[in-house]
Amino acid sequence: MPISPIDLYRDVLPQTDCGDCGFPTCLSFAAKVVSEQLSLTRCPHLSPETVADYEDRLQEQYAEHKWVKRDTAQDALQWAKERSARISLQDLPGRLGGELVAGEDGPAVRLPYIGGDVLITEQGMHKADGTELTLWEQVLLYNHWAQGGEREPSGKWLGFQELPNTVSKIKTMQTQVYGPLAQCCAGRGEELKRAARELGGEDWTAELESGDAAVFLPALPRIPVLVMFWDRDQEEGFGAEVKFLFDQTVTEHLDIESILFLSEQIRKLLCAHIGRENTKGHKEGTWEAG
Ligand code: SF4
Repeated sequence: MPISPIDLYRDVLPQTDCGDCGFPTCLSFAAKVVSEQLSLTRCPHLSPETVADYEDRLQEQYAEHKWVKRDTAQDALQWAKERSARISLQDLPGRLGGELVAGEDGPAVRLPYIGGDVLITEQGMHKADGTELTLWEQVLLYNHWAQGGEREPSGKWLGFQELPNTVSKIKTMQTQVYGPLAQCCAGRGEELKRAARELGGEDWTAELESGDAAVFLPALPRIPVLVMFWDRDQEEGFGAEVKFLFDQTVTEHLDIESILFLSEQIRKLLCAHIGRENTKGHKEGTWEAG
């Protein structure tokens, strides 16, 4: 079997996302090592023995052109599925929320997911309206399943930068989520509130008395997101701004990469409902290795 980015991330790299290699995450570095033949020695936190062992195997793989970049999503999905297998389907409602229902092929968990429901079975998962989830959405939901946290939201909100190990991700959050969403919402605070309601959210602007709009979105039952919006002020020369707040328990339910991906999905759906989705220049929501 060829060594995949997930193999390197899981079995070799320190998973600290320190950025010393010049890439924001260990996973994005792993993808470059595998697909673009970067040397493992660019990570200064590996033992010489580990580097020597894997460099030999990677050299063989490069020579045989065994790895292609498009395998990353499938590979991540496979890994997330393997990780989730230790927690039974029956235990999911107690951990993630949702409810156990009778599906066509056996028991299923119906899980609310940003304005719709997902049906999860032992065989796989799809949206309750019959449409497919993307591979990366499935990775997100299997990661949520695998993480297995069960705490209810505490009501204490934290900015993305206040979550642990986010330093290297703040720029991505700004360019892929905050910036594009602020652009969609500029001059359209009321439409943001309407879009949030259409996705099952609530308008919290009056309660919070901060920002021009504040909307509460139950992205997943245990993972609420508070979207704060400050509109542009052309006279003062300020552009529109957006920030997301997360419950302090969020990292018990999702890893940071998944939180970032979920934020991109929220941005995409809100912009689509506002009617101003503009994907030009933005990545489709993917992990940074994708
Ligand atoms: S140098 Fe890169 S690969 Fe190594 S631990 Fe830091 S982020 Fe991960």
